[in-house]
Amino acid sequence: MTIFDATTLQATYRQLGEQFSTDQLPTPVANPGLIRVNSALAEQLNLPADELESPESLQIFAGNSVPHNSQPIATAYAAHQFGGWNPQLGDGRAVLLGEVIAEDSLRYDVQLKGAGQTPYSRRGDGRSALGPVLREYLVSEAMAALGVPTTRALAAVTTGEQVVRESFLPGGILTRVASSHIRIGTFQFFSAQGDIESVKTLADYVIDRHYPQARDSNEPYSELLNCVVAAQACLIAQWMSIGFIHGVMNTDNMLVCGETVDYGPCAFMDAYNPQKVFSSIDTHGRYAYARQPEIAHWNLSWLAQALLPLMADEEAEAIEKAQTALNKFSTIFTESYQSLMAAKLGFETPNASVEQLLTALLEIMATHSCDYTLTFRALTDQLAPQGVSDVLGELYPVPEALQAWLKEWLGVLAKENIDHAVAYQLMINNNPAFIPRNHQIEAAIKEATQQNDFKRFHQLVDVLARPYEYRESDNAFAKPPKPEEEVTQTFCGT
Ligand code: AMP
Ligand code: MG
Repeated sequence: MTIFDATTLQATYRQLGEQFSTDQLPTPVANPGLIRVNSALAEQLNLPADELESPESLQIFAGNSVPHNSQPIATAYAAHQFGGWNPQLGDGRAVLLGEVIAEDSLRYDVQLKGAGQTPYSRRGDGRSALGPVLREYLVSEAMAALGVPTTRALAAVTTGEQVVRESFLPGGILTRVASSHIRIGTFQFFSAQGDIESVKTLADYVIDRHYPQARDSNEPYSELLNCVVAAQACLIAQWMSIGFIHGVMNTDNMLVCGETVDYGPCAFMDAYNPQKVFSSIDTHGRYAYARQPEIAHWNLSWLAQALLPLMADEEAEAIEKAQTALNKFSTIFTESYQSLMAAKLGFETPNASVEQLLTALLEIMATHSCDYTLTFRALTDQLAPQGVSDVLGELYPVPEALQAWLKEWLGVLAKENIDHAVAYQLMINNNPAFIPRNHQIEAAIKEATQQNDFKRFHQLVDVLARPYEYRESDNAFAKPPKPEEEVTQTFCGT
């Protein structure tokens, strides 16, 4: 039995028309091996978790067989990559098996990433190395546990084949689940060709699938833009609050549903530095930590551009509406960010004194290269009730440089009559102890690819499933890297 036997894999995206996708079967691999499956996610998707590890399901996750009712496709899109326009991209190494209706009654895509060449592969081999598959599994599942909207990982397999990159590397395939894989670049693909009919088809589909409330508006397409602007603004605020750097915010890597996608060169900051860049190909720091809101806004302006012809007959009127929608980005982002950061300091709502505290804190953290995650967690521990044992303690005491600031913070809490127990709970819920640290990810990938040892990968997935609960027994995974362990660059998944 396979995991999809009792499910109808729907193909509503395929039915939009042949300009949207190409029928594409996955290319079989030599010798598939199961690495990990995600039974909690399978259950959410209404799929039988006990079939996940069956030999027949493995064949599906490897692309060696196709579910009986599936009509697999590769989808077309375009993008601005690092600011430069590329009119022809598309799923060069991904195949969409179909859509399932989950427990929440919503529709989700099930996609194989690394499943072989497609008409959109250009010069690529359509494959993925094992390392990026493990990285995406780890980080996307960690993001989900942190409460950040994200694509998910249902399964990871080895292929028994090698891929050629700078060297020969073992191959892997990830089964990725997303609310949909429709990108800003999907809209751009049709808009750039002047195919307004297809832009409209796509916009209507996105409204029905993701933002049905826009249908009730007098101006559904302006409202659609409002919805995507809001979703992206909130998403980026969440990234910023946990120190996440996406690394490759090209317009094909921004989903209109507002989920994080593409974990190629991403990284969580260890020491706080707003200018931080990890990606080896981001030579100009375009996608640095602090620039992420600005870049998201720039990306959204291309969605707006594509939607213009639907927003009003008169161009000037359409531009004005688009501008109004885009202008909301910064307000929504700032409100969302300030509110998340206030919670990290124990305040239910932000206000001027909290914002002042935050600015001062971040300045000191940047000057003294404080660990972003553990500083907030060490502050949290200051309010821990007597007898609570899951505090970082020796692992990461409040940095010396913050002692004066600490008094000010406690002063504001007191002035605002905030109960320490309430603030503590809020802080525990907003300050993770465990994040996917780069040096840990690298170590897990190295052991898996060089020694065929997946122990650390599995441990790390398990630890990151409960990020807000500090466990002394897992403290090795909470520690910042030693100078010699520090990872300074990440590489794109290709
Ligand atoms: P990414 O940098 O992962 O966002 O990918 C950018 C584009 O390159 C997408 O259209 C991918 O499908 C395509 N691509 C990336 N890696 C490969 C590969 N190994 N083979 C074919 N296409 C690829
Ligand atoms: Mg991508």
